[in-house]
Amino acid sequence: MSKLHYRTCHLCETMCGIEVEYEGEQILAIRGDKNDVLSKGNICPKATGLQDIHNCPDRLRKPLKRVRKNPAEKSHDDDWVEVEWDEALDYAAGELARIQNQHGMDSVASYAGRSTAHNMGALLATQPMRDILGSRNIYTGSTVDQMPHNFVWYQMFGHQFLCTIPDINRTDYYLMLGTNPKISNGAQMATGANTYKKLNEIRARGGKCVLLDPRRTESAQYMDEHHFIKPHTDALFLIGVIKTIFAKGLDKAGRMEGHVKGWGHVKQAVQDFELDDISRETGIAKDDIERIAVEFASAKTAVCYGRTGISMVNFAGLTQWLMQVLNIITGNMDEVGGMTFPQPAIDSLDLSRSSWDRYRSRVSGRPEFSDEFPLVVLGEEILTPGEGQIRALLGFCGNMVLSMADGNHSEKALNALEFYVAVDMYRNETTRFADIILPPCGPFEKSHYDYFYHLYDTINWAKFSPKLFDTPESKWTDWEIFTELLGRFATKRAKNPIKKALISLAHKFVRYFISPELVTDLGLRFGRYGKGLNPFNKDGLTLKKLKENPHGIYLGEHSYTFPEGLRTEDKKIDLAPRVIVDDLPRLKAQFIEGGAARERANSEFDLKIISRLTNRTLGWMHHSRRLIKGKNPCELLIHPDDARARGIEADCLVKVTSNAGQIEIPVLISEDMMPGVVCMPSHWGHNRENTQQSIANGNPGVSMNDLTDVTVFDELTGNAIVNGVPVKVEAIARGADSDERHADESVEEFVA
Ligand code: SF4
Repeated sequence: MSKLHYRTCHLCETMCGIEVEYEGEQILAIRGDKNDVLSKGNICPKATGLQDIHNCPDRLRKPLKRVRKNPAEKSHDDDWVEVEWDEALDYAAGELARIQNQHGMDSVASYAGRSTAHNMGALLATQPMRDILGSRNIYTGSTVDQMPHNFVWYQMFGHQFLCTIPDINRTDYYLMLGTNPKISNGAQMATGANTYKKLNEIRARGGKCVLLDPRRTESAQYMDEHHFIKPHTDALFLIGVIKTIFAKGLDKAGRMEGHVKGWGHVKQAVQDFELDDISRETGIAKDDIERIAVEFASAKTAVCYGRTGISMVNFAGLTQWLMQVLNIITGNMDEVGGMTFPQPAIDSLDLSRSSWDRYRSRVSGRPEFSDEFPLVVLGEEILTPGEGQIRALLGFCGNMVLSMADGNHSEKALNALEFYVAVDMYRNETTRFADIILPPCGPFEKSHYDYFYHLYDTINWAKFSPKLFDTPESKWTDWEIFTELLGRFATKRAKNPIKKALISLAHKFVRYFISPELVTDLGLRFGRYGKGLNPFNKDGLTLKKLKENPHGIYLGEHSYTFPEGLRTEDKKIDLAPRVIVDDLPRLKAQFIEGGAARERANSEFDLKIISRLTNRTLGWMHHSRRLIKGKNPCELLIHPDDARARGIEADCLVKVTSNAGQIEIPVLISEDMMPGVVCMPSHWGHNRENTQQSIANGNPGVSMNDLTDVTVFDELTGNAIVNGVPVKVEAIARGADSDERHADESVEEFVA
């Protein structure tokens, strides 16, 4: 007889509720949970792929150790053997401790991939791990697609996780840049896979939706207007809008009156840019820029929102800043219908630090941000000899070879490591360079609470997902792996016997008495809706109460956060942070003073490539047979004019060349592309040897990051530039599969 289990899909920020029908150890179906307080039954196809991960024969159940054929170097001919957990943890901890004792604290680096943020145990272990490691070499996937958001929140509001969330439920005018909410399902506005319905509702209540993107994406049909915009120029467009608002006297602080500094400075700074230049460089008509500015500033409520599409390009820091400036100078910051801030049940702001430029990276002198260096410098820190060189890596939940700029460079760096311990469920394109892989259990074998993504909520709510299965052969959670690994590591590293004994004691205490569930219960009890220790408070939140409400608990709409919630010392929003304003001359030099025009004139790379999301896969979901069945979406979209000019026919295989590399890919000619821009999905390229991912290997595609250049990044934030890379496209063969667009790309509505 089958049973039902309710939990949150942890695959992305949207946090949809799912209903899992199971019998014994077998999953029979995964559907949307109609009673979930956030998603109300909406899910996307990816959730159904969770069962493929659970059942995947390639998913590692035991630690996997590399046995080198030649002890002096790694090779793809090396053998892999399964070892017991005790041996694996001792080996990993011992090697990390040995290298750090021999070469100094910074010789061991850590790298956390993006899915760390979707993983309760790994996320809770992150800060203790950094503290115990004591290394300045901290890297995460955030500096590939997210860091400019955090940088700007820190510079303007005083904390990297004071996340501005567009009030999609109440806004009247929604201006979007670099986002495809129909496919991402909202990303940084968690609504539960029903974003397109929310967009329809804006228009149904008389509002307006406007989208700017170099591709007419799947979201465009939910808009009143879509405008093509050239890659890297969103900052210019926003300057045009802001300048118009100032010029027409439409600026107003609204509720933030008296809590903003730097107003005059911004007003002055945008005068350096002329609308005619902006129009020429962005590709958007001057009249449209002025009209959008007036509409935005005159709307009852309005919000401008941009996601990773504007963080993975040049001038990403400036663009994120200007977006917030636009919201603030129109009275839409921390206001109903504008940008708002969630009030989560567990406020994870205090679990992390914010800082800028306290120290710099060894080789190229990049400033740290909130304890991290940008991922673009990891390779040079491994490959450049000298004191402080990285010799060992503790990596978890990430696949940088496919997700980071210049996969070949990442491979070279990973191969040069003396020791690499990977915490991962798979031997993938990145972890195949590891010396030992420690696999956490599967998604249904651990409990879950979204510590981070409740900061992206569009309503206040809370939900806890208990574990469903207790599988003896796959039972180590991420939390258990980290506490055991770090405890052993710190004990082995200590030289003084008394210190060794004390660390060992502390390790045992944490191992036996601290669990993510206990931390979550304490966080809920002492959070803003919590019960505390008061036995008479029947309404207060506890973990027990969340367990009794498997569809989640609604905690109300967003309320005002500022000025009390500002983390700046003077409790004011800094509208013109010096470090950001100082980047404006770089933008001016590029677009107003002819830098971009000179680049175009001197380059053989006459097109720009951007990435696109698909609604069936994330980078780590190509193991699911359900999600990758059918035609591989790994095709290059190109405008008919660009195709014609290069003799490219509909059935062509093309060669795409950049400064960094080359790939071959089938083409799809499409009016949806802006002329001059081509587009392909990212995170494919599962054709590298020595991986253990039979489903992905059988449908490999090619990696866009074999084209991107790790030496080119946003100067202000250090974020990688993986969109808008200059390329050349040439036809090399006819007869490539040219079916109509993959079903993946059709706009479909997936409601259980
Ligand atoms: S949008 Fe899809 S992947 Fe994201 S949480 Fe919802 S079901 Fe999961």
